Parts: sequence; structure tokens; C-alpha cells
Amino acid sequence: MLLGCIADDFTGATDLANTLVRQGMRTVLLLGVPAEGQAVDADAVVVALKSRTIPAGEAVDQSLAALRWLRDNGAHQFFFKYCSTFDSTDDGNIGPVTEALLDVLGKDFTIACPAFPTTGRTIYLGHLFVGDLLLSDSSMRNHPLTPMTDSNLAHVLGRQTQGRIGLVAHRTVSHGAAAIAQEFDRLHGDGCVAAIVDAIDDGDLMAIGHAAADLKLVTGGSGVAMGLPDNFRRAGLLTRAGAADALDPVDGLEAVIAGSCSAATIGQVAEMGGVHPMFRVDPAALAAGEDVAGAALDWATAKLAKGPVLIYSTDQPDAVVAVQGKLGREEAGALVEDAMAKIARGLADAGVRKLVVAGGETSGAVVQALGVTALRIGPEIDPGVPWTQSLGDPPIALALKSGNFGAPDFFVKALRMLP
Ligand code: ADP
Repeated sequence: MLLGCIADDFTGATDLANTLVRQGMRTVLLLGVPAEGQAVDADAVVVALKSRTIPAGEAVDQSLAALRWLRDNGAHQFFFKYCSTFDSTDDGNIGPVTEALLDVLGKDFTIACPAFPTTGRTIYLGHLFVGDLLLSDSSMRNHPLTPMTDSNLAHVLGRQTQGRIGLVAHRTVSHGAAAIAQEFDRLHGDGCVAAIVDAIDDGDLMAIGHAAADLKLVTGGSGVAMGLPDNFRRAGLLTRAGAADALDPVDGLEAVIAGSCSAATIGQVAEMGGVHPMFRVDPAALAAGEDVAGAALDWATAKLAKGPVLIYSTDQPDAVVAVQGKLGREEAGALVEDAMAKIARGLADAGVRKLVVAGGETSGAVVQALGVTALRIGPEIDPGVPWTQSLGDPPIALALKSGNFGAPDFFVKALRMLP
């Protein structure tokens, strides 16, 4: 393993793993800290935690446990991934986790660069922009858990760390990797524990990545990780021939589970429903105590041999609001997630080995129900959504899609991509 990564949430971890694969590193995503002794064959490993909004002390403990495992498994360099909008409060967790990781690694300097220009997150003179707005003027100002009311990242991070925070301004970044690395050295010598690094486009991120080749710990969004794989290649450490996104072929039946009600998923359900059989999971029937999962599985078992089936709870916004009004938002969500999890397990028992899941929470419930703890990242289906394959027996090909991702033909296209 060359690069060992710790991500503070699951979707961020997937995003980072996907980025590393596109840059040529074979990458495995681990859901939570693996058991001691569990080995993984990959160039990069991303440990997905759920540590973004838990108390800082717990976030530190979990991150250090992940670090220990990554170190024991030979990682050369470490990456701490957080959100591109720097989601955190003055009590943590980005600062405390960063300082704790540095401490254990015996280092006293790193960088902090959440920029992700492709999604509109840029940093200029240390200020984070979301699209055309300063972070503090964006909708992040009203985030329920981590309201971001200060765009000056040096100030935000400084309130979370013991050490001082410096800035590598764009006038330096624009001069390329050598100039940036020199500025890292200067700020380190000045006693800064971390430097915010300006970045307004992908060229900046690549240069920053190259400048970070000798840092034991790098922190930021998945954008700044783009430049890291090339460092290993230049050092002769990443020499494998063949595609980084290759997955072993899996043999088995195909299904789609859609538990998202986002606009993109509504379109994808309509498109697949036009060509393949589909079954609707009705929240009202679940609330009435009917065995909807059992009915869905009986229905599916009769059809699976002939081709893929679609099982969905996806509905139009007004219908979702009506159901939530009756059952409560969280209760409705939990009822449907629980049914989708049972259905996923039943489908796997029936021989499904190629499964597309739509919905972030739904994916979490399905992965847990299937007992999946590690995923190898494969080829991209649509931007940001790769095929993955569970490690373990039997391997299952899984496409886990956040609700609003993907083109209207996503489900059909995804299944067609697999041999
Ligand atoms: P997304 O990625 O689009 O946000 P999620 O799976 O994360 O999708 O969230 C969708 C939530 O809505 C889940 O909790 C799911 O159980 C719930 N849900 C799905 N279908 C319905 C429905 N018809 N009515 C009410 N809630 C639903």
C-alpha cells in the first residue's frame, strides 16, 4: 500500500477512492476500521469513518485507530479527507484530528486544502468560495450541524488547533510545484502546524499535489489527492501495468433497488421501468404491517432468471410529503430503508451478484444488510459513480449511487457495462 487515507464520511470516502482510481491507483474502500491482521491488496486504501460531526475526542480515537491499521499495512503517505466545504465547528473535528495524526506520525507540518474546483469549491487568499459565493454567504451558513459562518479557513482551522496556521497564496501556487514546496518549508520553519493552500483550478491542485510529495500527511478534499498518484509513479513505486479499475468478473443475477426520491432517480426509475419489470415498495403498506419485502422477493424470484428487475420506493415529492405527514419523516425513511435492506439480503440469497442501489442512506442500509465491509473500486458508470466489488465470499458487484447522480439511462447502462 502506498497511500493510506482516512475519510470522515462515506460519500467523501467513495469520492476520494474514485479519484485515486481515475489517477491510476488500485483502490479499496473499507467501511470502518478493519480488524487487526486483515490484509488488503491495493495501491491505496480509504478507510471510511462517520466522524464528521461526532465529539472531537471520539473522532480523534477513530482516526488514530485507522492510522494505526494503515501504518501497520505499510502505507508510505497518509491523507485525511474532509468535506470540500470544510464542514466543522470551532470544537473540531478537522483541527484536532489533523494534530493528532501529525503527532503519531512524528511530524509537525501539513497542508489543508479542501478546494474542489469541478464542483465550484475554490480557495483564494485563504477564503473558501462555493460557486460565486463566499462560504459564509452560501447555504452552508445554515447547515444544521456544521454552520459555516466564516470563509477565512486559516481563522476557522486556527480556532480548532493548538498550532498556528499559515497561508500559501495563489501568487505562489501559480508558480508551480517547486515554489509551493519552498513556501511549505518556509511556513514550517516559521512554526506553522498547517497551511491553507489557495487553489482555483485543477492545474493548481495538481501542482499542490506534486509539492506535497514529501509530506507524510496531507489533508483536504478529494481534489488535492489528484496530484498524489503521480508522485508515486515518478518515484518508481507505482509501476503496475494494466487498468487500475479492473474488477474480476462476477457471475450471477441482476437487480436494481431504488430508495431515493431525488429528481435524477425518478427519471432513472421511469426509464428502466419502460424496459424491465418493476415492483413498487409502498410505505403505506409497510406502515400497515404488510410483508412487502416478502412479496417483493416472491415477485422477483419468478422473474430474475429472465433479466434484471427493479424494486423501488421512489415517488414524486408531493407523495413523499404526504407519506411523511402521516408517518413522520424519519419513521417513513426508516421503514423503507429497513424493507430495502431485507430485500437486498433476499436478492443476494436468490443469486443476485450484480446490484445497483440508488440513494445514499439506502446504500448504507443495503451494504450493512449484505455484511459488506470492503469494496474494490472499478470503472466509472457516470461521473462520480463507479462500479465496486465487495471483497469476501461471494463477491457482489455493487453500484452505489447518491440519489441525484447519473444520467436517465444510469441503471440500464450500469448493468450493460458488466460482462
Ligand atoms: P438520496 O441519496 O436521494 O438522498 P437516500 O436513500 O439517502 O436518497 O434517502 C431517501 C430517504 O427517503 C430514505 O430514508 C428512504 O428510506 C426514504 N424514502 C424512500 N422512498 C420513500 C417514499 N416513497 N416515501 C417516503 N420516504 C421514502
